[in-house]
Amino acid sequence: MFLTDRKDPEELLFYQALSRWRGLDKNSEEHLWRLRRGAAGERTYDLLFDEAGHSNLYVFRDLYLQIEGSVTQYDTLIVSESGITVNEIKNFSGDYRVEGTTWYRGDYALPDDALSQLRRAVGKLLRLKRAVSFEFEVSGKLVFPHEEFRLSGGEGSLFQHLVMRYDMRRYFRSFENEYSGGCASELADVIERHIVPNPYFKLRVEFDMVRQGLYCGGCGSFRLEKQSFHHLCLSCGSRESNETHLVRAISDFKYLFGDLEMTSRRMMGFMGGAVNVRTLQRILNKYCDAAGRYKSSNYIFKYYDFTEAMKKEQNTRKYKDYLN
Ligand SMILES: [Zn+2]
Repeated sequence: MFLTDRKDPEELLFYQALSRWRGLDKNSEEHLWRLRRGAAGERTYDLLFDEAGHSNLYVFRDLYLQIEGSVTQYDTLIVSESGITVNEIKNFSGDYRVEGTTWYRGDYALPDDALSQLRRAVGKLLRLKRAVSFEFEVSGKLVFPHEEFRLSGGEGSLFQHLVMRYDMRRYFRSFENEYSGGCASELADVIERHIVPNPYFKLRVEFDMVRQGLYCGGCGSFRLEKQSFHHLCLSCGSRESNETHLVRAISDFKYLFGDLEMTSRRMMGFMGGAVNVRTLQRILNKYCDAAGRYKSSNYIFKYYDFTEAMKKEQNTRKYKDYLN
C-alpha cells in the first residue's frame, strides 16, 4: 500500500508559477521541461505498480530522510518483511551510453552518475540498522519508465541494477510473494520517524518582479474578463470561478515568494484587484490558516498546492469551471 502521496516537487511548482507570472529564460525553460518529464515518469511508475498490486507492501513515495545529520531524497522505498528496496526513477528518453562510470547522452556527459547516487542512497538506509533490533536487507534499482529510453555500453553487472520499461511489470510482480509483518511494520515506523521537509528548496523571486492579475488555467493568458462569479478567458474561452482563480494565485504565491508574508493587502496587489476584498477574504479564510489580527493577518496556505486544494475542497465549491 502507498503510505505517502506523490506530489509535484516544489521546484517544479516554482518554475511553473514563474513561467506564468514572469516568464522563463531558455535554461529555466529546459529545466522545467526536465522536471515535468521526471514527474511524468513517476506517474507511469505509480500506475504500473498499482496495476501489479502492492497491498502486501509498505510503499513510501517522494520523501526526504534525515539520517545521521544529512538529508537524502528518495523517489520510492518498498518495505517488506525482508527489508527495504530503493527505487530511483529516471525518466530518460532517447539513446544513452555508459563508459566506465560516466553516462552520456550523445556527446554530453551527465553530471551525476546515477548508480553511485543509488549506492549512496542505499548506504544511508543501512545506518538505520542501529535503530532496530533485527537484521534487514537494503537493495536498490534504477527504474527507467520511458518507452523511448535505450542504453548501450556498460558492463553486464550494471544491468542487474536497472529496470527498463519493458521489464517493469515483471519486476513489480516479483514482490508478489513478499509480505509485511512485524518487522516490516517496525521498519516503516523507523522510516516515518526520519522523514523531514525538503531542506533544499530555496528558490525565490522578488514580489515586485512579477506581473499582477489572474491567468487562465486553460491557456495561461492574463486577458480575462470579469463576470459576476467567474472570469472569462478572452484567448481560449475558458471560464473559471473566482474561487478557482484565487486558490491558484494563493498556491503560486506560496511557491514564488517563500517566506514573504501573505497578507490580504499583498494578495490584493498580486492579483491586481481582480476580485473584491470580501471575496478574497472569504477564500483566504477558507483555504488558509491565519496568524495575527484581521488586517495584518499572515495567511498560511493549508494545502500543499493548487491541485491538492482543488481535490480536497471539490464538494464545497459553489461555482463550476468550464475549461476549453
Ligand atoms: Zn485561456
